Amino acid sequence: MIDFRSDTVTQPTESMLQAMLSAKVGDDVFGEDPTINQLEQMAAEMFGLEAGLFCPSGTMSNQIAIKAHTQPGDEVICDELSHIYQYEGGGIAVNSACSVRLLHGNNGCLTADMVKDAINNPNDVHKPISRLVSLENTVNKGGGCCYELTDIEQIKSVCITNNLSLHLDGARLFNALVYKQQKASNYGELFDSISICLSKGLGTPVGSVLLGNKAFIKKGRRIRKVMGGGMRQAGILAAAGIYALENNINRLANDHLHATQIAEALAATDFVGNILPVETNIVIATIKGRFTPASFVEAMAKHTIKLFSVSSTQIRLVVHLNISKQMVDDTINVIKSL
Ligand SMILES: *Cc1c(COP(=O)(O)O)cnc(C)c1O
Repeated sequence: MIDFRSDTVTQPTESMLQAMLSAKVGDDVFGEDPTINQLEQMAAEMFGLEAGLFCPSGTMSNQIAIKAHTQPGDEVICDELSHIYQYEGGGIAVNSACSVRLLHGNNGCLTADMVKDAINNPNDVHKPISRLVSLENTVNKGGGCCYELTDIEQIKSVCITNNLSLHLDGARLFNALVYKQQKASNYGELFDSISICLSKGLGTPVGSVLLGNKAFIKKGRRIRKVMGGGMRQAGILAAAGIYALENNINRLANDHLHATQIAEALAATDFVGNILPVETNIVIATIKGRFTPASFVEAMAKHTIKLFSVSSTQIRLVVHLNISKQMVDDTINVIKSL
């Protein structure tokens, strides 16, 4: 079976499991799990930020950040494709009682002008108070596309002028860093908070880390407890995260190459229309003519290749560390044979 449904389907490797088995653990709600403390510190240092908070999921990590940055009735500015809006169960309303201003960016990437135009006049009592801008990099629903640092710098300057916080949903930030050859510290300088996922391209079974300054993470730790995310001897999971940060970042370039190769094979068929620009590990393609997204997914399933249709016109493939070169070659041959 070749599984392109998501980069969350990865199985831990033998060496990652070994790292987990030998982890020293303690009660993290007491702050006594040495492996979690090490992971939080290691991730914070990579980004040049003061502190980190290990969370069970990227959803929780984003939701903690949104709640820590806002008051009920505030407004969060984000792209309409954002995971925080599309795929977190309405959590912005449930957890933070905030409204959302949705923008229509370029495949999910915003510009400073878009953000500027969306900020409400704080003296107009009709309007919610604009408080937080949340960016996503790479953009999942945008086909894994990435921001230019200069665009983020301009957005940051709009945020500073207007007294807004800036959060990054960096579930796949390492894919962007590898593709754009950017540094983690560039991001630490620009964002008030960053959520990174260990369980996507980095290949761990569980976990995300929220990063920010000490006061923000202290607040976040309280919110995590309230949400039921205070774990105990979870150093077993954090050990997988440390292993992933040490071993699984540079290899993401393979996934990007494989995604490009699959996109090229799709583009050469008569049943694929527009493909969103493939920069990282995600391919989102429009299906037309002989196939519908559903019938294409079914045809691939007959060859034990799994993927999702993501809309009435589009399919998505996500490449990850359990997809080998052989699997990519096999997939390309199946696509050619259809
Ligand atoms: C997967 C993902 C998350 C977090 O997802 P969890 O499944 O809760 O870990 C957040 N943002 C983006 C863009 C994602 O793709």
